[in-house]
Amino acid sequence: MMAQYLALKAEAGDCLLFYRMGDFFELFFDDARQAAQILDIALTSRGEHLGVPIPMCGVPVHSAEGYLARLIKGGCRVAIAEQVETPEEAKKRGGSKALVARDIVRFVTAGTLTEEALLEPRRANVLAAVCEVRGVVGIAAVDISTGRMELEECAADRLGAALARLGASETVTPEGWDGAPPEAIARPGRDFSSDGGEARLKAVHGVATLDGFGMFTRAMLAAAGGLVAYLEHVGRGQLPLLLPPVARAGDAHLAMDEATRASLEILVSSQGGRRGSLVEAIDRCVTGAGARQLADDLSAPLTDAAQIEARHELVEWLHGDPLLRADLRAVLRALPDVGRALGRVVAGRGSPRDLGQLRDGLSEARRIHDHLQGRKDRPALLDALLPRLTGHGALTDLYSRALVPSPPTERAQGGFIAEGYDHALDELRQISGDARRAIAMLEAKYRDQTGIAALKIRHNGVLGYFIEVPAKHADALMASDSGFAHRQTMAGAVRFNAVALHQEASRIAEAGGHALAAEEAHFEELTALAVKARHAIAATAEALARIDVAAGQAERAAEGGWTRPAITTDTVLEIEGGRHPVVEAALAAKGERFVANDCHLSQTDRLWLVGGPNMGGKSTFLRQNALIVLLAQAGGFIPAARATIGLVDRLFSRVGASDNLARGRSTFMVEMVETAAILAQAGEKSFVILDEVGRGTSTYDGLALAWAVVEAVHGVNRCRCLFATHYHELSRLAESCDALSLHHVRAREWQGDLVLLHELAEGPADRSYGLAVAKLAGVPAPVVARAKAVLERLEKGRAETGGLAAGLGDLPLFAAALEQREEAVDHLREKLGALDVDALSPREALDLLYELKREAGNLP
Ligand code: ADP
Repeated sequence: MMAQYLALKAEAGDCLLFYRMGDFFELFFDDARQAAQILDIALTSRGEHLGVPIPMCGVPVHSAEGYLARLIKGGCRVAIAEQVETPEEAKKRGGSKALVARDIVRFVTAGTLTEEALLEPRRANVLAAVCEVRGVVGIAAVDISTGRMELEECAADRLGAALARLGASETVTPEGWDGAPPEAIARPGRDFSSDGGEARLKAVHGVATLDGFGMFTRAMLAAAGGLVAYLEHVGRGQLPLLLPPVARAGDAHLAMDEATRASLEILVSSQGGRRGSLVEAIDRCVTGAGARQLADDLSAPLTDAAQIEARHELVEWLHGDPLLRADLRAVLRALPDVGRALGRVVAGRGSPRDLGQLRDGLSEARRIHDHLQGRKDRPALLDALLPRLTGHGALTDLYSRALVPSPPTERAQGGFIAEGYDHALDELRQISGDARRAIAMLEAKYRDQTGIAALKIRHNGVLGYFIEVPAKHADALMASDSGFAHRQTMAGAVRFNAVALHQEASRIAEAGGHALAAEEAHFEELTALAVKARHAIAATAEALARIDVAAGQAERAAEGGWTRPAITTDTVLEIEGGRHPVVEAALAAKGERFVANDCHLSQTDRLWLVGGPNMGGKSTFLRQNALIVLLAQAGGFIPAARATIGLVDRLFSRVGASDNLARGRSTFMVEMVETAAILAQAGEKSFVILDEVGRGTSTYDGLALAWAVVEAVHGVNRCRCLFATHYHELSRLAESCDALSLHHVRAREWQGDLVLLHELAEGPADRSYGLAVAKLAGVPAPVVARAKAVLERLEKGRAETGGLAAGLGDLPLFAAALEQREEAVDHLREKLGALDVDALSPREALDLLYELKREAGNLP
């Protein structure tokens, strides 16, 4: 047995091996140690290997799913080795001692789950494959629980952002690739070839060309090849549901990098969970599929005005009709997860219950269609979605006739095919039913015949049907002519068989076996039909999800008094009465009110410097405006009284160095790396929020950097920007930067206490109220008093020397400094351009080089 185990373990590689033995999956050696620890189950031992006991632990097959879920969560991958023949077959093949043949039937990994119990209903489960082809990175991503597949490509330095958006639970890359993200699983490089990928996709979809699905680049196809090859590997040749790939164009979506996503807490909050995240504050979907679609929308907001407005229009339509919305949501709430049921069915892991879910879901989709079809003034997006809700009439009719109302999750015991669907099956059931009745009648007959009232006919898995009498009555039946044959003596009872009973029992067994076989055959046929219609069924599931998202957005808007934003391509951002959805909800839970604030950015006033005391609401204001842009472009309503959103192509959010020590770089370094990324990437259509940049270093350094960053954002990037700072000195930038204006969050000192008004006002902040905030936070009074004394000294010093920013008034303008440099460079360029190289002697060339180098060295 160990030889067989070790061979399978070698095949399983670094996956834990679940080795099937009877009713258990057993794990051995290091696998057992690791699993016992993660699962908190007993580690035992069995036999010996090379003279030492073999560590072992096991989990029962019937509850294996729960254990698998915990192992996968714990970061493991698992190979399942099943018995692939019965003990009888093994004996026939190799004699009485023959070992039952086993084989790995499947690998269970985080990215390739389809089981309902192992998946979170409201989260997509993404598997990604990434590789590089001639300097371009290709990414293929699929959620195999629903079959959605996307291909994209990006520059190597944008890989982090792309992966952050996907949030894959498993990533595979070619082995030996330096660009591979950490934790990626290495797969053979040959799987990632673009020709191979193209061939695999064509084979999966049975097409001669992929042109009908879109245009795919070499890098995309190579990644797709790696993805499909990996799926073949983990499914041992059985492929899961894969829908035709969709190419994701880089500029079709609002670009956000990893740091921005984390800082805006879109899908996960800074605490690491869904709690406190944006999606939690927005999500009013009533189906898991809707919630997954919403998360996808928020991760990848659109940049195309027409598409965004199509979504707004549908939300508005549902917002305007609360009754329709309530009806619709009630129907949607009862829907099964059609997409995931389909995923299991196509992956060959479907159950009768999954077929029942397809039947119910698709029939309901039809009813939703009929209901909405009758409405007037339907928005265009709905008109596009409606046809996808129908077209399954033949399938649902068949399933309704074929399946019982609530089919079981197990198919081995049968009982899921409805009566009247198959006459032969009905007859078989009739026979076993008759036989069961006959057995009940036999019991009465035997009681009569023997005079033993306590006689019973019973059934168990080992003996089948048998007659049982209490031990004290057994003698009469033991007689050789009694017509009963002894089978087993128990503590208080004795068991017998009888010819008539044996005959009836055989009838039951035979008819039952045939009935099971018949049901199994029907199951295969019914499954094949769903597999054939998989694209249409998936389209229905997606349409239902899209409708749920719109209804949920409308519901959220109605709940919070949210409005539809106007969309324009001008570089403006006009938000009146804007609010932060997460902070507002948190305050509401405490019975406090959120103060709404306006934001008006335009080409001529595109950078707002926001000052004011700590805790005054600066960060909240910055983020709420970024979130409003994100929500608007994701197609939803927004928490504001009124707004015009000029479409944003890239969104950046940066928070000054804080407690983010996780990555092992100094926080200030992180801050600067991120700031550098903004200065390199933000353009005129971008929107940037910068919160306390420069906070992570000394006062002078910090102020100097903040100053230079503001100037660069204002003069070079020219994007819309909100910049929060506690450096008063920065307000002097208003003198030199014409599209910059000063704002602050208001505060008042009242009877010695600080009152934060959380209200934005124009003009610079008057002072920082740092000591008042310290007092508010509970710093002991003597410490605050001492700080006050120190402050007075410092301020006196400042008055005498002109303060921290003394001398900044004479600084040449940032743009002017840049121009100077450009001019000098141009001068060099001219000189080089005018040069006739062929006419130069080596000596002259050398002199000239010295001269040019000297000039370049003099550049400012
Ligand atoms: P800052 O960035 O100025 O230090 P924050 O934005 O972090 O301040 O806000 C501090 C706290 O003030 C928040 O946690 C919130 O409870 C409250 N707050 C912020 N903005 C508002 C607002 N507009 N209305 C009501 N309370 C607010």
